Amino acid sequence: MQNETLHVHPPSADDSEFGGLSLPIHRASTVVFETAEAFESRHERIYDGYSYGLYGTPTSRALERQIAALEGATRALLTPSGLSAIALVCLAVAKTGDRILMPFSMYGPARLLASRLLQALGIETVGYDPMIGTGIAELLDVRTSLVWLESPGSVTFEVQDLPAVVAAARGVGAVVAADNTWATPILFNPLVHGADISMQSLSKYASGHSDLLMGSLAVRDETLFRKLKDTARLLGLGVNPDDCFLCARGLKTLPLRLRQSERSAIQILEAIRSHDAIAKVLHPSLQSHPGHEIWKRDFDGSNGVFSLVFAPASKGALQQAFGSLRYFKIGASWGGATSLMAPSDPRDSRPDLDWLPDGQVVRLSIGLENVIDLIEDLTGFLSVIAGAKQARPGRIAGTELETTWQSRGD
Ligand SMILES: *Cc1c(COP(=O)(O)O)cnc(C)c1O
Repeated sequence: MQNETLHVHPPSADDSEFGGLSLPIHRASTVVFETAEAFESRHERIYDGYSYGLYGTPTSRALERQIAALEGATRALLTPSGLSAIALVCLAVAKTGDRILMPFSMYGPARLLASRLLQALGIETVGYDPMIGTGIAELLDVRTSLVWLESPGSVTFEVQDLPAVVAAARGVGAVVAADNTWATPILFNPLVHGADISMQSLSKYASGHSDLLMGSLAVRDETLFRKLKDTARLLGLGVNPDDCFLCARGLKTLPLRLRQSERSAIQILEAIRSHDAIAKVLHPSLQSHPGHEIWKRDFDGSNGVFSLVFAPASKGALQQAFGSLRYFKIGASWGGATSLMAPSDPRDSRPDLDWLPDGQVVRLSIGLENVIDLIEDLTGFLSVIAGAKQARPGRIAGTELETTWQSRGD
């Protein structure tokens, strides 16, 4: 072998006695075949085997199998982001003339997808009140091919009655898809409760370190899986094996991270929620929260992503309060180790929020810092809003918070 050839065709190392505990990373665009016949029939490998790096590698397939197992599914499909997973479902399931239902509380960019791209394709999207329950029957018709749920919803966290929506959607044969990013399969399992598709943004809690973007779709129906995979292939959607590795590594600690985030959130809420500067707390564990009873019925706990509505305060006071934060960073993509706060305005786009008091809504993501530091940071934030010089902790609140983690043995 000549020198140049040896640079391209190195000797292989024997890995037969190597055992490791992490997911091997297979980087590939080209996949090579044993025979010309195998190459010619490579498209048959789209669902299970390997034909091109874009359509799957042993790394992505392994992560897909893990997600499927966690979701109680038979199949899972990875996409380059959570939003691309939502878009893929809409494009695979709905066609021109169809209707899609989306809760008003759905992830904002998905609603933009509906009003811009889907509408231009002749697919109508109708928004609905996430608390609609069986009332969804009135919005369903023969054109309705897809019903989305997001429970709890983005920013306002209403918990939806998924079994009631599924029962109604069955009547018109619509596919039911649920965005399960907040709960992850640890807290809620949409497929077990009757949904056809469970979607997650793995960029959030699942990967958990704010350093990658990925989405997943989990299903039990092989025909539906193939429809999704075929559409992903037409759109050229694939995932990066390094990101799969990081996501698989993140998943190992997801149960611990989620539990810690829930525990800290409940301690934080106990410490601050009766402060005068707070008009309302939006967290499913509160008895007063929309859908709390459904959360208790269907979910196995909560987490550290919730919102606070501040009593009306001047913009200047809020800006000054954000400026005073030490550990909380200002940012949107929640579920990581670093605690985050993000001002948001759900009222902009929603006709159903008459129950929400006036004032700035701020979403929080409680990370893995020590909870004492986080309480101190938030107490300082509240003092700035209240115009007080001295940080003071709020009263410890009564019994309204349901600390599910206590009843789960710790
Ligand atoms: C972030 C998010 C998405 C989108 O995920 P990306 O991976 O950022 O595209 C979808 N749904 C929910 C509920 C989210 O929070």
